Amino acid sequence: MALRLDGVVPGSVALVGVPLDFNSSFLRGPALAPARIREALFSGSSNAFAEDGTEVLNGRLLDAGDVAVPVGATAFDAVEKGVAEVLERGARALCLGGDHSVTFPIVRAHAAHHPGLEILHFDAHPDLYDQLDGNPFSHASPFARIMESRLASRLVQVGIRTLNPHQREQARRFGVEIVEMRDFSSELRFEFAGPVYVTIDLDALDPAFAPGVSHHEAGGLSVREILRVLERSPGRVVGADVVELNPLRDLAGVTAAVAAKLVKELAARMLR
Ligand code: MN
Ligand code: MN
Repeated sequence: MALRLDGVVPGSVALVGVPLDFNSSFLRGPALAPARIREALFSGSSNAFAEDGTEVLNGRLLDAGDVAVPVGATAFDAVEKGVAEVLERGARALCLGGDHSVTFPIVRAHAAHHPGLEILHFDAHPDLYDQLDGNPFSHASPFARIMESRLASRLVQVGIRTLNPHQREQARRFGVEIVEMRDFSSELRFEFAGPVYVTIDLDALDPAFAPGVSHHEAGGLSVREILRVLERSPGRVVGADVVELNPLRDLAGVTAAVAAKLVKELAARMLR
């Protein structure tokens, strides 16, 4: 099914689901996530407002549905094209993964519309592998592809706690700014000059806050810490994604609810 783009007008934010998980290295499941995140977001368990008072669920956040994702090599082109259609309408895209491989085609679409894009990336993992298990488009590799393709002028990573020698070398090569979790401070803030793209891999969070992910990496961020870094870092957020929810590992939908919370706060920031 094609995206539903009626109502996606300049100044609106479109939710775009990307149900793709065949680039996952360990477990499948994130393809089921967009439906679960929508369910939590529109469940009526909380109201329509973000913390800053923005009314998010009142029509300025529109659900454009899911990209029809073909399996195989043409999948990324379909994702890029779907997101580009939203951007061509003067709207912003807030994408629901999917595994983290989807960020490469999503950022490709954004880079074409927003020169000088800066990326703020929350994750337990730097996702800078040149390839993993022979797959250069693995969910462990999107930021290697993005930086090689010069799609971003800056990449800032927060929450990282899985660096190995190869990924340290890749980070050095691409000039990635990494705030490792062991050095994290809640006073952290960034100055962004250009348009900002925010990508949140839910495993950046401690598994205590987000058990519904494929890779449980203990010692992570709280939901509040992510929100605080976003709030403390001024800049024009032009696009975002929330990825790696694995509903097959979730407990009573708590991780889907966390994803929905992050979506609501990101949408408010994008609507400002
Ligand atoms: Mn990731
Ligand atoms: Mn991760």
